[in-house]
Amino acid sequence: MNEKEYEAKLLSTPCPKPDPYGALSMPVYRALAYEFETAEAMEAAFCGRTDEHTYSRITNPTVQHFEQRVKRVTGAYGVTALNSGMAAISSTLITLAWSGSNLITSRHLFGNTYSFFANTLNAFGMEVRFCDLTNAKEVAQAIDEHTCGVFLEIITNPQMEVADLAALSEIAHERGVPLIADTTIIPFSVFHAIDFGVDIEVVASTKYISGGATSLGGLIIDYGRFNQYRTPALRALEGTSQSPFHTRLRKEVHRNLGAYMTPDVAYQQSLGLETLQLRFERQAAVCKGLAGKLKTLPAIKTVNYTGLEDNPFYEISKKQFGDYPGAMLTFDLESREECYRFINKLKLIRRATNLFDNRSLIIHPASTIFGSFTDAQREAMNVKQTTIRLSVGLESVDSLFDDICQALG
Ligand SMILES: *Cc1c(COP(=O)(O)O)cnc(C)c1O
Repeated sequence: MNEKEYEAKLLSTPCPKPDPYGALSMPVYRALAYEFETAEAMEAAFCGRTDEHTYSRITNPTVQHFEQRVKRVTGAYGVTALNSGMAAISSTLITLAWSGSNLITSRHLFGNTYSFFANTLNAFGMEVRFCDLTNAKEVAQAIDEHTCGVFLEIITNPQMEVADLAALSEIAHERGVPLIADTTIIPFSVFHAIDFGVDIEVVASTKYISGGATSLGGLIIDYGRFNQYRTPALRALEGTSQSPFHTRLRKEVHRNLGAYMTPDVAYQQSLGLETLQLRFERQAAVCKGLAGKLKTLPAIKTVNYTGLEDNPFYEISKKQFGDYPGAMLTFDLESREECYRFINKLKLIRRATNLFDNRSLIIHPASTIFGSFTDAQREAMNVKQTTIRLSVGLESVDSLFDDICQALG
């Protein structure tokens, strides 16, 4: 999407009229419940015959406005905003899975996503089948008639692995299952998931979209294209709407789990959306420039950024994400001790988790995000003690490079 298209789609999203004050941005409606003129109007709204708001766990004007803006930018069929990235992931899987089903995914997952699949959903009778998603044959063999979907992260972290989405979606669709992608790492203004066959996109809007660590949030973006679900509850809805998934999510799962985004967060993230492209371009360009310079330092063993030409995923990354695949990179030092010593000496770069804050953030994933996993689990997930993750903020290449050099020094 070019800049003009993005501006046209985003900035033209109208606020509902009439607003008594002519507000230019959508106000924050902190109202919890909505009043009706008559019992009949109330019945119509509660039974879904009109789309009036009833209660803010279900819909809210400010959150809905945020959802509509995302819908315009992505061209999706349905968008649901939740109160964290994990709420988006868990609500999606609870809509798709059933007891006795299985999910095809990789061991290269965000720590809580891994735990949600392997521990939480597993306890309800869903089996997780960990595969190498860069191996089409292995994926094809793992799918059977009980598979509820294929789930992946578009660039895994900290491993920085990129699967061929078009190839995966072809296999998934041939076998009658949807492809679900966590696209947190590249915003939808740059990466058009639907063009690569993704059916449902989940995003931790906490990261890029929030506008620099303002708030937790999550999005479920349903393209409404997949229509051969095996999930019994979704099959029962076939023919009632373009997307049984979206219908079940909005009418049942999301209401029952109660993890809707709050209006204050929707307001902040709506502002974040307006500067998303600008911040991404700056942060990704600085990240790529820095990655190139880090490769010249002898103390750094490997630099992992899929936008570098000698990266094993360079070609597929370029095809899917363009020249600037995100603002996060990882690199390896000699040992865990060396990583700690280096991290402790940084002056500009901050020691914190999170991605795409306006400040650059550093973390040692093995001892933090993956700290509660066993050595064997970390090994299977390819999370190494020598790896450091850097999320690049709005600083310049030179300032970041200087800080890294002095800390290595
Ligand atoms: C941060 C993150 C999540 C979880 O998001 P929260 O808002 O913290 O719940 C999920 N997936 C990826 C890839 C993330 O980076």
